[in-house]
Amino acid sequence: MPRDYYEILGVSKSATEQELKRSYRKLAMKYHPDRNPNDKDAEAKFKEASEAYEILSDAQKRAAYDQFGHAGVNQGGGHGGFGGGQQGFGDIFGDIFGDIFGGGGGQRSSGRSSRAQSRRGNDLQYNLEITLEEAVHGTTKKIKVPTYVSCDSCHGSGGSGKQACGTCHGAGAVRMSQGFFSVEQTCPTCHGSGHTIKDPCRACHGQGRKQDVKSLSVKIPAGVDTGDRIRLSGEGEAGENGAPAGDLYVQVHVKQHAIFERNGSDLYCEVPISIMTACLGGELDVPTIDGKVKLKIPAETQTGKMFRLRGKGVKALRGNSMGDLMCKVTVETPINLNSKQRELLEAFGDSIGEHQTHSPKSKSWFDNVKEFFAGN
Ligand SMILES: [Zn+2]
Ligand SMILES: [Zn+2]
Repeated sequence: MPRDYYEILGVSKSATEQELKRSYRKLAMKYHPDRNPNDKDAEAKFKEASEAYEILSDAQKRAAYDQFGHAGVNQGGGHGGFGGGQQGFGDIFGDIFGDIFGGGGGQRSSGRSSRAQSRRGNDLQYNLEITLEEAVHGTTKKIKVPTYVSCDSCHGSGGSGKQACGTCHGAGAVRMSQGFFSVEQTCPTCHGSGHTIKDPCRACHGQGRKQDVKSLSVKIPAGVDTGDRIRLSGEGEAGENGAPAGDLYVQVHVKQHAIFERNGSDLYCEVPISIMTACLGGELDVPTIDGKVKLKIPAETQTGKMFRLRGKGVKALRGNSMGDLMCKVTVETPINLNSKQRELLEAFGDSIGEHQTHSPKSKSWFDNVKEFFAGN
């Protein structure tokens, strides 16, 4: 028995559209297959959440589900289009993620309501790995996408001698009853186009499109991060018989960097300093994504101290705000001391005594420990 859709999304039965979207987005980000490669459990959760959202975000389907439960929305195929083509996938993600770059998820017709049209091409997803430097500065990437392109020989028409389909009489759809409902289905003969072709084009066997590898340039805006998707409208698969093409979604993955870690628009790095610099202060070169800068270390700096370099992080994807670079210093304990150095350190230890060396932090730690033992 499938789980309750509201339960899957962790929302109440009265959840608003916004609440559904927020909750689904959170789950989708968490369980997305790209973020959990080879994790069957995550994949199952992702599909489950996507299915729940697909149903509940559609007012009609939600009403049917509220009334009849899973029987009311069972689409026969189970996962509502997830198994095979990516149509359902694209629809949902178009709405949720499509607004990252401003375009808005708007004017796409899903093909479901507009019958007697040739089928729109499938949406495609391309996983693109870029470096942190490329993500910070923006870049243009050339990619090759195996896809369907419009047939040159027939200019996408599929051939000549177009005539109304005998099965659906040009409607593109046929009605079938399924459980409680009479369901409209794409016509199996003409695949929804409403017509058949008398003399199909030989190059594409009447499809109006053929398989090919398409080369594209993708502009990656400065500030993108892992999980962002860039939609290239109309760059997905060509539709059959001259129907509109689908969209191409470029899913961005930013590779791990050797020095910097990123959190939103801030960058983090660790800077080792010597015990002398920590005690006496000094100036050192620290790396930023745009080259070296000087960082002043004040005297008596404790290990773990974080220094903020304003504006040395990542520019926000939207607007002009700049993130910061956070440098965490770690004081290094000298190793391979020779006997002379050991003597010097011992003399140093004798000269200052235990209490003088305690920083305020370790002082309170020692006080706490004393209290702890006194209490036991
Ligand atoms: Zn052709
Ligand atoms: Zn037909």
